[in-house]
Amino acid sequence: MEIKKRIYVGLLMVSMLLALTLAGGVWFLLQNRELLVGRVLLTVIASIVGIIFLLAGIGVLAIILMIMKSKSIPSLDSLTRMANELLFPITLLTGRLAGINKEKILQSYIAVNNYLVKSKKLLLDGRQVLILLPHCIQDSKCPHKITMDINNCKRCQKCCVSDLIDLGERYHAMVKVATGGTLARKFIEQTKPRGVVAVACERDLSLGIQDATHIPVIGVLNCRPNGPCINTSVVVTDVENALQAICKGG
Ligand code: SF4
Repeated sequence: MEIKKRIYVGLLMVSMLLALTLAGGVWFLLQNRELLVGRVLLTVIASIVGIIFLLAGIGVLAIILMIMKSKSIPSLDSLTRMANELLFPITLLTGRLAGINKEKILQSYIAVNNYLVKSKKLLLDGRQVLILLPHCIQDSKCPHKITMDINNCKRCQKCCVSDLIDLGERYHAMVKVATGGTLARKFIEQTKPRGVVAVACERDLSLGIQDATHIPVIGVLNCRPNGPCINTSVVVTDVENALQAICKGG
């Protein structure tokens, strides 16, 4: 398992252990409080929480197994999703307490997600794929409104939008530019893709991946030579590699 993925998987395991220790502690206290009002009810609640964490534990094991075997286990898909959703905030907290840079944790989370999506070995038609770009990838001085319609781009090559449109055309994939999460969600609702290749920063990508729970999303990190959110860029071959990972003939 390469270092990038190891950070997130390691943190997932530590978070899982912490959560289980906490649940065990609560359980122990419940068992030892003689005069606890509503003890039965609290025991039921503790049991439910215990079962949820047990299932999340199976999800974490499934993630590790899938990474080690480079193979998806479709029957455990919902459990891996649940483990990720439930433990993601705890993982971030654990990582921060351990002094690991937040960006590094998010990069690791995206690497694990991409690996899991690739291991599904999807064979989508390019038409079923949406390439989702952030607005900051457009040259900030460009007067053309490409969020309304990407075909408003005049392909002057001042930014990488023209190359990404070319790429989309080669793969017959849809290309959209979103100004934020709300518009991105709207585009996904409208176009109903079977797979998404999303370009953004660590924060937006991890939020987007968490958001689109039922659609496989491959995240491609953007480049920020001018700092965040202005005149960003992306390595077009990285986007093409992501497309090839989920498309037929890739
Ligand atoms: S390539 Fe398109 S989006 Fe980029 S600056 Fe030129 S016209 Fe604008």
